[in-house]
Amino acid sequence: MSVGKILANKGRAVITVEPGQSLQQAAVLLAEHRIGAVVVAGAGGSIAGILSERDIVRAVATGGETAMKDRVADHMTRRVVTCVAASPINQVMEIMTAGKFRHVPVVLDGRLDGMISIGDVVKYRLAELEQESATLRDYIAAS
Ligand code: AMP
Repeated sequence: MSVGKILANKGRAVITVEPGQSLQQAAVLLAEHRIGAVVVAGAGGSIAGILSERDIVRAVATGGETAMKDRVADHMTRRVVTCVAASPINQVMEIMTAGKFRHVPVVLDGRLDGMISIGDVVKYRLAELEQESATLRDYIAAS
């Protein structure tokens, strides 16, 4: 099963911020959309970075509350690990586990094509396990 299957259900919209926006503005977006990370937009639809709630917590922990006025660019992760719609979901789970992060942007020709979060992956795995156990129950009932 691939990432594209999850995107077909949840949609491909991705919330983004500009590198020059403040952490405060990014936090408002996270709260409004009930999400844990925003992609930082680069030139021509490219990805300049990713900023998660953890980056904001770290910024406040080290810089105090005035850090909320800092630019997103000063606290984002620049080396973003991405996947494509054809990536197997198991591979994305391995990427999240190995990288210790919970969000993986999906790209198509270098442009944003969606976002997969650990919540999406867990939801998919639960549905898959439920399907497997239903198949087993039917098999046992029929034998
Ligand atoms: P998260 O677990 O997604 O809240 O993110 C934890 C840390 O990893 C934060 O510093 C994020 O900026 C960073 N991060 C999140 N997603 C990615 C990603 N796909 N590639 C690289 N770094 C990421």
